[in-house]
Amino acid sequence: MRFAIGKHIVSGKDETVRLFQNLILEYFSHIHPATPVIVYLPIISVVGWRSAEVLAPSSFIIAACAGIVLWTLAEYVIHRVVFHAQPRSRLGRKVHFLVHGIHHAYPRDSTRLVMPPLVSLPLAAAFFVLFKLAFGNFYQPMWIGFILFVFGL
Ligand SMILES: [Zn+2]
Repeated sequence: MRFAIGKHIVSGKDETVRLFQNLILEYFSHIHPATPVIVYLPIISVVGWRSAEVLAPSSFIIAACAGIVLWTLAEYVIHRVVFHAQPRSRLGRKVHFLVHGIHHAYPRDSTRLVMPPLVSLPLAAAFFVLFKLAFGNFYQPMWIGFILFVFGL
């Protein structure tokens, strides 16, 4: 079943749409919703363990909460400025649909509920480096708090 919100068509079923002509990209764009847990839980455990050796438990918890707050603010700004932008060019509309539009057009697509690791791992690594440069000793728990929500854990 499809219904329209404004000028957009929204699917009400667990159905999908092909995004890439390339079979490999298309294959890796569909993942099980538990994939982030399997991929990130070991990474978060190692990072958390290493950080716990350096920080007091209270500092760890406060820094992780700061990461969650930072993500909440970042998500709002990203949604407001990027995800819900209305690009005018054909390429801009394609990129927008790929990055976020599909999430609204097919909200029940069970194979695209979470970000694929092909995209999320490089982003997580970039944020790790960025946080290390910006937050000193607190970067690891802040990063954990940040990515817990970014990647759907
Ligand atoms: Zn949205």
